[in-house]
Amino acid sequence: MKNFQCPYCGVGCGLYIDEKGRVKGDFEHPANKGDICKKPVYFPKVMNEGRILKPLYRESKDKPFKEISWEEAYRVLAQKLTSLNPDELYFYLSGQLLTEDIYVANKFVKGFLKTNNIDANSRLCMATAVTAYKMAFGSDGVPCTYEDVDDADAFLFIGSNAAISHPVLFKRVLKRRRETDQVVIVTVDPVETETARKSDLFIQIKPGTDTVFLNSVLWVLYEEGWIDYRFVDKYTEGFDRALDQARRFPPEVASSICEIKVEDIYIVAKIFAQSKKLISFWCQGLNQSVNGTMKNLALINLHLATGRIGERGCPFSLTGQPNAMGGREVGYLSNGLPGYRDVRNSKDRKFMENFWGLKGINPMPGPTITEAVDLILENKIKFLWVVCTNPAVSLPNLEKTHKALEKVFLVVQDAYFNDTCEFANLILPAAQLGEKEGVMTGSDRTVTFCEKFADPPGEAKPDWLIFTELASYIGGEKYFPYENTREIFEEFKRATAGRLCDMSSLSYDNLPARWGKRWLYEDLKFPTESGKAKFHPAVFDIPKEEGEFILITGRLKDQWHTMTRTGKSPQLLKGEIPPFILMHPKDAEEIGIEEGQEVVLCAGKREIRRIVRFANVKRGTLFAPFGYPKEFGEPTNLLVSDRVDPYSKEPDLKYAGVSVKVVVSSKG
Ligand code: SF4
Repeated sequence: MKNFQCPYCGVGCGLYIDEKGRVKGDFEHPANKGDICKKPVYFPKVMNEGRILKPLYRESKDKPFKEISWEEAYRVLAQKLTSLNPDELYFYLSGQLLTEDIYVANKFVKGFLKTNNIDANSRLCMATAVTAYKMAFGSDGVPCTYEDVDDADAFLFIGSNAAISHPVLFKRVLKRRRETDQVVIVTVDPVETETARKSDLFIQIKPGTDTVFLNSVLWVLYEEGWIDYRFVDKYTEGFDRALDQARRFPPEVASSICEIKVEDIYIVAKIFAQSKKLISFWCQGLNQSVNGTMKNLALINLHLATGRIGERGCPFSLTGQPNAMGGREVGYLSNGLPGYRDVRNSKDRKFMENFWGLKGINPMPGPTITEAVDLILENKIKFLWVVCTNPAVSLPNLEKTHKALEKVFLVVQDAYFNDTCEFANLILPAAQLGEKEGVMTGSDRTVTFCEKFADPPGEAKPDWLIFTELASYIGGEKYFPYENTREIFEEFKRATAGRLCDMSSLSYDNLPARWGKRWLYEDLKFPTESGKAKFHPAVFDIPKEEGEFILITGRLKDQWHTMTRTGKSPQLLKGEIPPFILMHPKDAEEIGIEEGQEVVLCAGKREIRRIVRFANVKRGTLFAPFGYPKEFGEPTNLLVSDRVDPYSKEPDLKYAGVSVKVVVSSKG
């Protein structure tokens, strides 16, 4: 029996694989207590399908790949890395890697190569929550834990379809409601999702307007005398400025902008004011927005205004990937350093330079991945190394992204062949979870040791080993002396000593364990300059879009991200293909569309085909799952612009103006 953390959503369920190769939930694990959803059950069956088995190389993209040895692959990489300027290189990592993999890659790039030209696919999901947490609390990290679900009496899901995206967590919320009739669940979403259907109150909001709704709730709290001034005065600052913004959206105004009922705004305000303990869960519905940081801050403002931090509640961002939290601890975004440090902070840089024995960490954050796409097209970045992610499907503005992938010298390091491999010059076979050891951190800061239970196929190697061997090849042996992941973890955890995410007491032998106290800010002292949490005015600003419909995007129930692994399981594909959109039946009727009919969605000249399914979607809105690879049809993100949130630089992946054309059947 071997234990590991689930490789899919960020709930971070502890699982084990038994002697017969069956995956089950670990009853000892605090995140799931033995529960499990459908996705990881099929993991062993698809582990070896479609794997990359050997390094493959082609200097020119119009030539076929040829198999090469690892020695030759390192020679190619060394030649590129040493002949190009560090600013001409770019690395794009993933929240699906183990912490040890990410730590070594980050040290290699920021410490050894001395460039911050590195980002991760967390930019597409968690960057906004990270930014807002830092602005409000002075640091990243979820303030409470899953245990808080077990005695809360109010749950707000906003921009989160947790029932399918974080199912084990949602089941825990439903269990709490079964235990006591005091519990209320509210969902705010443009789509009547499975989460909405299981809620006590569903507020069907117009896409993009969450900042208005949340500001209005703050205004009602103020008007009704429901502000917890004892908390606000003692532990926060900036309330008045936040309130000045909120006063622009009294319920009558907000209800017309958000297209919701006035009374629903009062109900949510009352729940904030009067419940015993309230947890707000949110995910990409707030994060993947040009107004995303403001949406996050508007929600956090409500928690600050009612003193709901710690014992009485918590704003709880749900991570979209299994180890996005680990990546945040390691600091794998373009501004980060290990232990929640930042390249812009001279003390942080100095500490890591001494710690690594590598001087010269660049004080400027590197470009984000969407900025890197532009820099490739401007010929300023000439080399891109993608590790364990599939930007050819998941980045926005795919027409532009594909041009950049075509232009750049591209290295793809992955366990599986995916759509990005089509653009590669060099493909490196990587070991995946279960074929290597290491740790991951789930959404509530619980760190889990993942054991090895299979050998990597062919010549696949763990990601940390690829970077370690390459570093040795180019003279960095003394900085990367690792023989195994235990040594890497021991080094990494020392870098966190004394920091908010202090993991120094953890070891492979005492996991799973959570870093930080049960409530991260238990003493209500926040790591800001003043020691107080900060309100921020949450300014509402969304673009005007062309087209008759607003397209919003999200997840499929049984598939995960770009389907690289789950798409190989017939059981998990059932009901998820062919690619579809959700449309309101009345919208469909108005333009003469029937359920099951194929339509073309257009944004300018970009088009994708989808089958129409009827659902209770906000009128004028379409919902499309984002993860379909080319195998199943045109990727959804062809229609999505690369507009970003100005603070977090997270793309506006959930808001695109589109028009719909009916496909005329050529039968007969
Ligand atoms: Fe895995 Fe998430 Fe399902 Fe848990 S809820 S088993 S972490 S996909």
